[in-house]
Amino acid sequence: MDTQNVIFYLPSTIFVILALFFLLLWRLGLSSSWQWAAGFAQTASGFALSTFPIEATFDQFVSGVFYTGAAYCYGSAILIHFGQDKSRSVRRPLAIGFMVPHIYLVLVEPSLRLDLFLIEMVFAALLGFSLWKAAPKAKLAADLALVVAGSLVVIDCLIRGIWFTFVFKTSEAMPDFLHSAYNISVHVTTITVCLFFPLGAIAAMTAAAIDRHRSSASRDPLTGLLNRRGFSAAVNDDDPGMSLSGAVVLCDIDHFKQVNDEFGHATGDRVIVEVANKLSRLQDDRMHVARFGGEEFIVFIENGREDEAAYWAERAGGYLEASDWSTAGVARQVTASFGVAELEKTRIGPAIERADRALYFAKASGRNRVATASSLRSGRHDFAASTSGTISAIKIAQG
Ligand code: GH3
Ligand code: MG
Ligand code: MG
Repeated sequence: MDTQNVIFYLPSTIFVILALFFLLLWRLGLSSSWQWAAGFAQTASGFALSTFPIEATFDQFVSGVFYTGAAYCYGSAILIHFGQDKSRSVRRPLAIGFMVPHIYLVLVEPSLRLDLFLIEMVFAALLGFSLWKAAPKAKLAADLALVVAGSLVVIDCLIRGIWFTFVFKTSEAMPDFLHSAYNISVHVTTITVCLFFPLGAIAAMTAAAIDRHRSSASRDPLTGLLNRRGFSAAVNDDDPGMSLSGAVVLCDIDHFKQVNDEFGHATGDRVIVEVANKLSRLQDDRMHVARFGGEEFIVFIENGREDEAAYWAERAGGYLEASDWSTAGVARQVTASFGVAELEKTRIGPAIERADRALYFAKASGRNRVATASSLRSGRHDFAASTSGTISAIKIAQG
């Protein structure tokens, strides 16, 4: 092999390896879609045709189809990764419409120069459109890296297309193409700046996988709320250097076993989800709401006082009681009891224990009510009548 020609073998080799690697990632469930592998495989095939020519017209026609197919697949993969609509109504006409001038420039009025220009522009348009749609969704640094790397490929196509068509005009003859400045520039940029593109894709997919695992470790899959672990992390309770201040509300659905027994476990699940949604709706910026156990929830109000937390719990209880539960499949009222405690030291654990004792007390004294830890401690309880069906918080006779 002529060592000077090594450059011509590199892109097809690199892109075959990338296609196989992305296929493996897809099989392992790490790649956002198989289109990455399809895009790299088509790019490898396009390069292979210029390195191992078969017949000039055939090579020109088929490599144009491969590059456009690759751009389409990259575009789909990007839109899928960023959870965007695939915009087929825009991208398909562009990719299929490309065939008309492409056939014309290969078979009817052959012009390699104009055909290369067409391929570069369509490639840039297909990839650029997807990047433009995806860019606002790029939140993680790796996603931004993918968008920037993809934009470099688009810029590379635009500059090369314009330069070799209008400024330094490339030859019209396919046999001259292999060693043309055009072809060398394609190879050089492909194995240098354009390699950021597959690397950006790998980084973005790795970051997304890590993010998914982090989120599934800290979120409850049924309700989407934080779980215990996520709650501890969110309130910085696992950081010994943090000094916390605020109040805790524990919420436990009343007679939930009966809901399960009467309406089935699936309906019970729907009720849990609905209670979670309703508590979340009452949440503000200082609050962290989490599913603490089966049908038990916890709320931490940063810098909140006990009376503020008790007021919030009353509102939440009233909201649950007044809601129409038939939509969740339960032909009866669903209520909950609440225990509230303010942090006395900077750790949340002892406050949760006191809120739990208050919750137990709220249950014991009739359910569908709020009990505060300070009321238990003072031993002074004055229950409002609960026969009206409205929630009755325990009023504390402040001495
Ligand atoms: P109380 O008013 O005293 O709280 O009565 P309760 O029946 O609600 O009693 P408890 O809180 O002990 O009941 C919890 C029940 O919640 C027991 C369990 O079967 C049910 N449960 C726990 N997790 C789930 C879940 O994920 N889905 C469903 N459907 N039920 C659950
Ligand atoms: Mg319970
Ligand atoms: Mg319960």
